[in-house]
Amino acid sequence: MSGSRKSDSGDTTVDVVIVGAGFAGLSAAERLVSMGRSVLVVEARDRVGGRSLSGEVAGVQVDLGATWVARRHTAIRDLANRMGCTTTGQFDQGRNVLWMAGRRRTYSGTIPKVSPAVLVDMARMQTAVNKLVATIDVNAAWETPGAGRLDAISFGEWLDRKCALPSTRALMTIVSKVQWGCAPGDVSLLHVMRYIRAAGGLHHMLDVEGGANEDRFVETTQEIAKRVAERLGDRVRLETPVRRITQDDDGVTVRTDSGEIHAGYAIVTAAPAHRATIEFEPALPERAEGLTRTWRMGVLSKAFVAYEKPFWRTDGFSGEALTDTGTVFITFDVSPAPGGPGVLMAFCDPRVFDGFDPETRRDLVVRQLVDLYGPQARTPIDYLDHCWGAEPFAPGGPHPVAGPHATTSYGRALTEPHARVHWAGTETAGEWAGTMNGAVLTGQRTAENIAALLSRDVRAGASR
Ligand SMILES: Cc1cc2nc3c(=O)[nH]c(=O)nc-3n(C[C@H](O)[C@H](O)[C@H](O)COP(=O)(O)OP(=O)(O)OC[C@H]3O[C@@H](n4cnc5c(N)ncnc54)[C@H](O)[C@@H]3O)c2cc1C
Repeated sequence: MSGSRKSDSGDTTVDVVIVGAGFAGLSAAERLVSMGRSVLVVEARDRVGGRSLSGEVAGVQVDLGATWVARRHTAIRDLANRMGCTTTGQFDQGRNVLWMAGRRRTYSGTIPKVSPAVLVDMARMQTAVNKLVATIDVNAAWETPGAGRLDAISFGEWLDRKCALPSTRALMTIVSKVQWGCAPGDVSLLHVMRYIRAAGGLHHMLDVEGGANEDRFVETTQEIAKRVAERLGDRVRLETPVRRITQDDDGVTVRTDSGEIHAGYAIVTAAPAHRATIEFEPALPERAEGLTRTWRMGVLSKAFVAYEKPFWRTDGFSGEALTDTGTVFITFDVSPAPGGPGVLMAFCDPRVFDGFDPETRRDLVVRQLVDLYGPQARTPIDYLDHCWGAEPFAPGGPHPVAGPHATTSYGRALTEPHARVHWAGTETAGEWAGTMNGAVLTGQRTAENIAALLSRDVRAGASR
């Protein structure tokens, strides 16, 4: 392994040990290697990519986790580019379907066709969200003026206080389920506003054209991670959960089931709740412990249903649907080409999905697609789903659900180093927190900080 040393006992010594082979960990490793540092990335799972994972349905590679990339997500785009991966536009031509309060309607553009009263209410709530979002300190949400007040209530309580109409509330619930993997009543208003701010505003977060859902990667997002890992070679060690990190003034020792790794510094990229899978010696300060306890992961599930052809396109539909009833709450068309196969991606509510056997899950999804797109949806040629809450290691996603008070009490611990242990990962990002782009940026930034510390240590050693 380049630049690392292995002892007779099997222990490894490197400049920096990185926990987690998602986009943050792999980007940190790539940057450190480019600066001539020796690294080892240790990943608990048997694969790289973290919350990016590919699957295959009807011979088509699909994204079971992270999918979309905005034009402004330049860090992940640049990484993908260098790895030879390409983007394709998210298909959104035609009419969308809205299934709300037991009624099916169709509409064009981003704004659903609802009554004028509901449109006015939605505009009112959007204005209220935009006003709050503008006040958020994206790099330190807990420093936002009035942070304590915003963090004292849930997003759901705020919708109640604003007397949001049921339809507006139903749409905000869909946003909450897809963005944070929870109901609006579970997540703090400050946390929601921080994520919307980090995502470039409500419109940028939700839109296809000009927004976060504009493009997806032809090769899948996990393929980007796989190619980075391939270049890193044996600097990436899979199926190696980190159990313990001890440290003293000279360095860190990372204990795994297959031996110890000694390094000057550690970068931990696990999501806040998953930091708790590691025992720290000396123990983490109370604020950092509190973060792992209170920033539990949300949960989201995805299903992919394949047909001979994207028949909904012929019927004039985009494949985009929003629904407030049942298991599926959003669909998108992720077909590889107009000639087929046609693939619909459906976001599913884990509470009415994950607990069922695979056959029942499939029936639930297909039945709902028949309601949305008609009888042709009854005869898929293939089906695949993934329940992120059921992952054996580091379960959950897309994002943490920080409940009331969790950000003001513990948010600082997202990035505060624990001596020689530094934190990266998308949650530690300011702008673009929650996205692959945020993950890449934090990996690169932390790598640069650690490289500077390593150089400082060498200078200090030389002058002693
Ligand atoms: C369903 C879903 C849809 C999403 N959609 C999008 C999207 O469209 N666009 C977008 O930009 N983002 C999306 N995301 C979010 C995106 O996936 C994440 O922001 C990003 O992948 C996070 O990267 P990361 O490296 O910070 O963390 P992770 O990918 O979570 O990587 C952390 C790694 O650390 C490992 N780890 C944890 N603890 C230990 C330990 N003790 N020892 C060893 N290894 C450990 C984990 O196994 C994991 O592999 C989505 C996520 C999900 C789940």
